[in-house]
Amino acid sequence: MSPNDPKLSARRPRTRAVQAPNRKRGPISTPVVHSATFSFPSLDALMEAQGAGAAGAFYQRYGHPTLRACEERLAALEGTEEALLFSSGMAAISAAFLAHLRAGDHVVALHQCYGGTLNLLAWGAERLGWSVDLVDARRPESWAAAFRPTTRIFHIESPTNPTLDIVDLAHAATFAHARDALLTVDNTFASPIAQRPLEHGADLVLYSATKSIGGHGDLLAGSAAGSRRAMEPVWKARKVFGAVPDPQLAWLIERSLKTLPLRVEAANTSAFELAARLARHAGVERVLYPGLPGHPGHAIAKRQMELGFGPVVSFEVRGGREAAVAVVEALEVVLHAPSLGGVESLASLPAYTSHAGRTPAQREEAGIGEGMVRVSVGIEDVEDLWADLERAITIAAGVRT
Ligand SMILES: *Cc1c(COP(=O)(O)O)cnc(C)c1O
Repeated sequence: MSPNDPKLSARRPRTRAVQAPNRKRGPISTPVVHSATFSFPSLDALMEAQGAGAAGAFYQRYGHPTLRACEERLAALEGTEEALLFSSGMAAISAAFLAHLRAGDHVVALHQCYGGTLNLLAWGAERLGWSVDLVDARRPESWAAAFRPTTRIFHIESPTNPTLDIVDLAHAATFAHARDALLTVDNTFASPIAQRPLEHGADLVLYSATKSIGGHGDLLAGSAAGSRRAMEPVWKARKVFGAVPDPQLAWLIERSLKTLPLRVEAANTSAFELAARLARHAGVERVLYPGLPGHPGHAIAKRQMELGFGPVVSFEVRGGREAAVAVVEALEVVLHAPSLGGVESLASLPAYTSHAGRTPAQREEAGIGEGMVRVSVGIEDVEDLWADLERAITIAAGVRT
């Protein structure tokens, strides 16, 4: 059974999310196979299963049937040959780097990348002989100076956290390939429904499946997808380091994939509406959302994103730190919590979560003010979300006076 079943890949994302490859006969929900190892009637049969890698049923760390069903569904959604799941987003990102970097290799990544990824790169620079340079997502004209003959990976995100800067994916791919580097894209903020970086030339697409893919705030997982050639060493890294999801987790992720397009569309539609209303609110200094025409990345986002512009909206409330704290503490429908992409709307203060480790000067340079609130919009009724936000911002305005 191939994830690239031509009939299935001709169908639209909502159909591909619900329909699994090769499900003509039998249970319509994937059976959860709780087996650490598998038995064989002959040595040939054992060797065949072992040789099949992630697609075989040999030993659970290599891959297993429940996981494979989910990986095939994910590859079909992504429109690529191979997808692999991991026990966290960081496990997927580290497997991709460990697979494609050796001691002495150089990586270029964005300043704006996820903090855990920057920590991973620093760790690799300290212990594994990688070298790393960071560039600004907003200044592509400055990227060339960071590349070296030893650069093997250009790692990016778009939209970025929490300022939602947009990188032109096709340009980044051409740019990396001209310098013999792979383009790896952490596509967590967009999800495979709203943006498919592989179609714009990326070599690997990476996710924290903890976010939109899992989507219910109840699991930790990651994924990587790309061509067989790019993914073969990633599978080896997963096997060596062992961050393989167990059957129960694999089944939960597959279940979530069926509703992914519906959830993403609902969240993105509400996020757009809330961003537009926030931009008109007197208590709000500025709104960062790539769907708004005034956003510097709007034109590129419109070209490379589908079904909206992602679930995350960031805004700067008038009154700085105190007002922002008052907003998150006054919210009742929206929960005060880190993370994103789930059915529940969440709000957090980037200065105290993702960017807590930076100095005020570094945060200012990154464009993250003390009054910044990041909202991950869920699938609740948009009018209830707006009433909640409006009420909280009004209370925050009272705190100032
Ligand atoms: C959350 C997140 C990660 C890390 O994923 P985990 O599942 O927490 O390991 C990586 N990249 C981005 C953009 C994220 O939001």
